[in-house]
This record gives sequence, structure tokens and C-alpha cells, in this order.
Amino acid sequence: MSDEPQIPVSPDDETEIPESHPRYESLLTRHRIEHGVDIGITSRQGLIAQGRGEAYDYLLGERTIESADDAARAAAAHFLLADHPVISVNGNVAALVPGEVIALAEAAGADIEVNLFNRTRERMETIADHLSEHGAEDVKGLTADSEIPGLDHARAKVDADGIGSADVVLVPLEDGDRAQALSAMGKVEVVIDLNPLSRSAQAASVPVVDNIIRAVPNITRHARELQDADESELHAIVESFDPETALEAAERAIRRGE
Ligand code: ATP
Ligand code: MG
Repeated sequence: MSDEPQIPVSPDDETEIPESHPRYESLLTRHRIEHGVDIGITSRQGLIAQGRGEAYDYLLGERTIESADDAARAAAAHFLLADHPVISVNGNVAALVPGEVIALAEAAGADIEVNLFNRTRERMETIADHLSEHGAEDVKGLTADSEIPGLDHARAKVDADGIGSADVVLVPLEDGDRAQALSAMGKVEVVIDLNPLSRSAQAASVPVVDNIIRAVPNITRHARELQDADESELHAIVESFDPETALEAAERAIRRGE
């Protein structure tokens, strides 16, 4: 018999997962994604994306590596310097970190916009409602009166007063094409993605190679810490961050455990 605390394989409720369990974070993540599919906010494709992410997280040692913490700090500085920062939310993000996204939006003065690869009116509304239940006051994305150039119509839709006019966008777990199209619009793009080789991470001004479960609260923590910093200090943080170096450090951590 192992001494590991026993837990139900498919917990009905998060509170059934003991925090002392060695795989607590991973079990919590799986539970949230499964629940997201059950309530119609996460697509079945989202389960596959999560599996891919978990494999990278395992190789990273399920921790926030130093370069990802630097990236989180640079992301926070970008948010605080921005005129109009927006956090883009898809089905996996809504399932995994709804409350955490709202806390970040508050700390960073950002808007929240639902933006889906597999866009249906119903899923858009279910996600917006889910975020409202977690305390979001204004959720954008349903107006869809603007487009990201260079993408086909259905996947390009954004709100003109949201992502359309944002200067800094956080796009966690995004597909490569859209990440590239957004950065081609000249926006500062912060990507959260556990795969440093993903085209999304490669297109980012600030790639945060970390699990979204850890990364979003970490960016919030940095934003709160930097709340009263001078603009010159924020600019210095932004300028000292190099995306190439951060991606290389993440790849080294994965390949060699450094
Ligand atoms: P590319 O960016 O190369 O075009 P892709 O975007 O098509 O690849 P997907 O599997 O669709 O690849 O995207 C999911 C991405 O999200 C993967 O890169 C995966 O590592 C990442 N991911 C999944 N779950 C998480 C998570 N919990 N935290 C952070 N990243 C995650
Ligand atoms: Mg990707």
C-alpha cells in the first residue's frame, strides 16, 4: 500500500482533491478542464491541447522557471504601461483560471474579451456568463464589429473597442496563426504557452513558458508589486527582457533539466 493520500479518480468537486496530494495541481487542472467540457465552455479539442501542455509541464518539473518569472514581470510592466490592455479568453482559459483572469484584469487595468477558435454564439455566451458568475463586470467579444487582418472571417472576429484597439494583448494558449496575425498588427503580445517551440510562443513579444494555472496569478503578483513604480522603472523592465533568451532558457530547462 502506498502512503499517498487517496483521492477519487474523478472528483465531483475541487474540494475533494487534498492540497497535500503530490499531484494536486495536475489533478485540479484536469478536473477544471473536464468540468469545462461538461458545462459547454471548453471544446473537446481543448482536452487535447491540455494533454500537450501537461507533457511540457512535466518536463519543466511543474514549476515556474526563472526565465518564466522574468517574463511574467515584463508582462506586468507592459500591462501597467499600456493605454488599453486586453486579456483574450478561450474555452481552456475560462475553465482553468476564470477567477484568476478577473484578478489580473483588475490589477492591470485590462479588459477581458472572449475570443474562440471554434466560435459559436452559444459557446461565446456560455463563457461570458461563466466569467460573469466569477465576478467579471464587463466581458467583451460578442459585438465582433472588427477583424484581425490576415485571418479568415470566422476566426478573425474581435470587438473594435476590445482587442481591435488594444495596444497590449495577453493571449494564453492561442493557436499559432492568430498569435502571428496579432503581432503583425503591431500589438505587444504576451503569450502563455508551455511549449517554447509553439508558433504562438515564437510570435510573442513576451512568451511566458509556464502553466497558465501558475502564470496568471504570478503576473498579477508582479503587477501589484509594480503598481507604484515609476514609468522609467517599468520601461527598464520591459527593455531588459529578451524573448529569444527566455525561449532558449525554457528549451534548455525542458531538454536538460537546467
Ligand atoms: P502552434 O502554436 O505551433 O501552431 P498549436 O497552437 O496548434 O501549435 P495546440 O495544441 O492547439 O498547438 O495549442 C495548445 C498550446 O497550449 C500548446 O502549445 C500547449 O503547450 C499549450 N497549453 C496547453 N495547456 C496549457 C496550460 N495549462 N498552460 C500553458 N500552456 C498550455
Ligand atoms: Mg500554439
